[in-house]
Amino acid sequence: MSHALDTNHDPNPLRIGVLGAGGQLGLCLLRSIEEADDLELAFAATRDEIDLGDFEQIGPYLDSHAAARPDLVINAAAYTKVDACEAEKELAYRMNAMAPGEWARQLMERNIEFIHVSTDYVFPGDCSQPYREDDETDPKTVYGSSKRAGEVAVLATNPNALIVRTSWVFGPGRNFVIAILDQAARRRTGELEGPLKVVDDQHGTPTSALDLARALLELGRMQHSSSGFAGGLLHLCNSGETTWFHFAREILDFAGYRDLVITPVPTSEFKTAAARPAYSLLCCERAAAAGIVLQDWHDALSDYLGGPDVSASLLANDSFDTEQSDGANSGRPPRSERSG
Ligand code: NDP
Repeated sequence: MSHALDTNHDPNPLRIGVLGAGGQLGLCLLRSIEEADDLELAFAATRDEIDLGDFEQIGPYLDSHAAARPDLVINAAAYTKVDACEAEKELAYRMNAMAPGEWARQLMERNIEFIHVSTDYVFPGDCSQPYREDDETDPKTVYGSSKRAGEVAVLATNPNALIVRTSWVFGPGRNFVIAILDQAARRRTGELEGPLKVVDDQHGTPTSALDLARALLELGRMQHSSSGFAGGLLHLCNSGETTWFHFAREILDFAGYRDLVITPVPTSEFKTAAARPAYSLLCCERAAAAGIVLQDWHDALSDYLGGPDVSASLLANDSFDTEQSDGANSGRPPRSERSG
């Protein structure tokens, strides 16, 4: 076995802790840290390891050996089941508002930097041009309100924390892309019949969890070298825009389902517990000014469909009640149509 010195390894890496390490974004953060020579994983907090909503555990966890002294913590954890949040308001606020605030406080006390992730759902969705960071928020759902309360709690505690809002995330796990592919496969085998209906009056930008993770880590490097933002809000999505219908068409075409018919329908055809924003484009100029621009969403989708996550996620796809897929309630068949 060779003991040659690894000349690529940074002798003083940036040490990163990841909250929500088992989710779409969390898993992509772990992968991206692994592939970077100048980064090192300080801890990967999954639900098995720590209940992030149990604030008593935060201090002991951060002071434990398991959390070996990070320079930066990125919070990719959230209660993302948009419809379920309507009925579980207390849980939504605990995870999406109180927990980020408490983590921000405890990290600041230990002089550890913090990046927290938020959502386009903080906006009302009635705009006709991309939302900027300082546009007024007015969430229409419990999920959106709880996430907005999280932003406020984090910045009130630590104005130097960075809050990154994103939209329509797809990565390893449950998401709209997987929901559409699942629907297509079931139609091909004859398990489901009839055209797939997809909402065509909600506008937004799909975002690759892997692209987002890499960008968050770049922001972390900038923060750490004091060349980044002084803290506050930042919008970050893949480039371009679409509707759920056109997104679905692109997914199917890429994945070899060109012959599968899908029907565009208005949001009013799908009853969901939580309302979905009609327009949730985020203006990413602030990030672009700092040199951070994510690739076009078509390219991000192509990368995703060519990567390892799709088959694994299809096998594990047990629920579509998440932000990304519910924003696309469209991909979901009526209950009677679902197996199980
Ligand atoms: P996921 O739902 O894939 O991941 C969230 C993770 O948080 C899950 O692993 C979940 O664990 C974990 N978690 C939730 N509650 C707890 C808890 N009490 N203790 C420990 N872990 C917990 O989310 P995404 O990766 O898709 O989202 C990442 C961020 O991006 C979130 O802040 C979300 O609000 C935001 N966002 C997401 C969008 C999307 O379309 N998905 C769009 C815009 C913003 P478990 O699975 O066990 O519940």
